[in-house]
Amino acid sequence: SAKQLQFKLVLLGESAVGKSSLVLRFVKDQFDDYRESTIGAAFLTQTVKLDDQTTVKFEIWDTAGQERYKSLAPMYYRNAHCAVVVYDVTQPQSLEKAKSWIKELQRQADPNIVIALAGNKVDLAATRRGVPKEDAQRYAEEEKLLFLETSAKDSSNVSELFTMIARKLPLE
Ligand code: GDP
Ligand code: MG
Repeated sequence: SAKQLQFKLVLLGESAVGKSSLVLRFVKDQFDDYRESTIGAAFLTQTVKLDDQTTVKFEIWDTAGQERYKSLAPMYYRNAHCAVVVYDVTQPQSLEKAKSWIKELQRQADPNIVIALAGNKVDLAATRRGVPKEDAQRYAEEEKLLFLETSAKDSSNVSELFTMIARKLPLE
């Protein structure tokens, strides 16, 4: 019989890497060059159909990346089934920030949490890449994370990212 399973997903990462834009692309298939930055956190939902029998509903918490909201993050990741940690492929320090979020999740979140690392803004990579794909991929393999380079702007790998996560969740 058909089933719909619900999972809580949290987005983490430095400010301006494109967390809200990835969610906007995934939920509304829109992109905005001048997004207002998120205050606190925003809540949205979207479903992914895996097959005729199985639909996954994501309850998405899009957190603000600013330091002043950092103490709120545990509220959002504490009961999360999955996390998308985002960096900007043009900004190497945003990968370092992503790694520190991943360490925090590995220490403090549910031990079964599914973590995906997303290198966003890959549409800019031809001229402005700052993080080699192989470096991030190697790190993701070492830490057993899902990994994709994405673009909220041109849609590259956005639905693939969420589908890849859905397939890793306990669907029984
Ligand atoms: P957040 O602070 O991580 O939520 O980042 P936002 O989603 O607010 O995006 C910050 C800025 O980056 C905005 O100006 C977006 O338009 C831009 N942006 C987001 N994703 C992409 C992308 O994939 N490609 C490009 N070129 N710009 C992006
Ligand atoms: Mg935001």
